[in-house]
Amino acid sequence: MNNRRILHVDMDAFFASVEQRDNPTLLGKPVIIGGAQDSRGVVSTASYEARRFGVHSAMPISEAKRRCPSGIFLPVNGAKYREASRQVFTVFRRYSPLVEGLSLDEAFLDVTGCETLFGPAVKIAEKIKFEIQSEVGLTASVGISYCKFLAKMASDMEKPDGLTIIQPEDLQTRIHPMPISKLWGVGKKAAPQLERLGIKTIGDAARMDLHTIRRYVGSLADHIYSLAQGIDSRPVEPFHVRKSIGQEVTFAEDIGDIEFLHTTLLSQSETVARELRQRHLEAKTITLKLRYPSFQTITRSQTLFEPTQLDDILYQSARVLLEKCELKSHDKVRLLGISVSGLAPERVQQQVALFEEAPEKPHNLMKAVDLIKDKFGERAITRARLIKNKQKP
Ligand SMILES: [Mg+2]
Repeated sequence: MNNRRILHVDMDAFFASVEQRDNPTLLGKPVIIGGAQDSRGVVSTASYEARRFGVHSAMPISEAKRRCPSGIFLPVNGAKYREASRQVFTVFRRYSPLVEGLSLDEAFLDVTGCETLFGPAVKIAEKIKFEIQSEVGLTASVGISYCKFLAKMASDMEKPDGLTIIQPEDLQTRIHPMPISKLWGVGKKAAPQLERLGIKTIGDAARMDLHTIRRYVGSLADHIYSLAQGIDSRPVEPFHVRKSIGQEVTFAEDIGDIEFLHTTLLSQSETVARELRQRHLEAKTITLKLRYPSFQTITRSQTLFEPTQLDDILYQSARVLLEKCELKSHDKVRLLGISVSGLAPERVQQQVALFEEAPEKPHNLMKAVDLIKDKFGERAITRARLIKNKQKP
């Protein structure tokens, strides 16, 4: 297994770099992507200039503003980033058919066996970096190793514009001294737990007493023990199926109006169901996420009797899940979202013959709606919504 050559390519501050590329006046400035300046969302990407102020992704915009008052705050321009992503992935696929995208700006490539064609892995990495720079105008950092875990660690070591190789013999000197929180799969919750058990570095995990640690962190112990030893045989999976699809919104102000929350859930159900149909998937489980103004966050899930890709079914279960949150009349909501998981390929549905015969089944109706939206835009068809007269008695 140690003969594999795996690349992990990660674009540098991707969204922010795209904006700086398209507007040179932003070069060298702290650019923060994630909503307009007054937005209450979180930071999606911060340019390296902004990171020097301590701004990082997932931080509330308000906190980013406090840390970096001179920051230039821009909304997320999804269409633009998807186009740049498409170009970057086109470059990847020139060098290997085994490309596993992790997000818009990050992928694994298994280049084992491609080396006779394109040269050693390090040459392939250099070519990829060069082509991304010259064709897309962006920089990427590449990590090379014999397994996914170490390739991913490597791409992060010399950012931005890095190229790092981790050989098996580098494990002790370069990986083991790193903090345990850097280990793939160790989240914010598990890291302090492990630290309390005396596992502060990845090296500590490699030397740990597996049986003891299992008692504290269960099967996660096996996972971190293997990775810490540099053992990771997971293949690069080009057709990696997404595990979930979701939509969430942080409201401009905290919302107490239940009707408004319902309307939000309806619109989110429509978007998620549409994505399911576009990807020819059905979902078995729906999860509602709700955040209070205090930042306390709760989730409620429901597994459906049979998988679905329909707006109405998602909406109805989202409403049930919202009821389970037992909001009091004075409660307000900061963030609301739904996601679906347990995804599987859709069962064969009758093809839509748009305009030829009236669609009878709800699947066909929704696919007909999708077709019209594809052709004429998202606003071409909207659901008639009953807006209650909210006049006070
Ligand atoms: Mg990145």
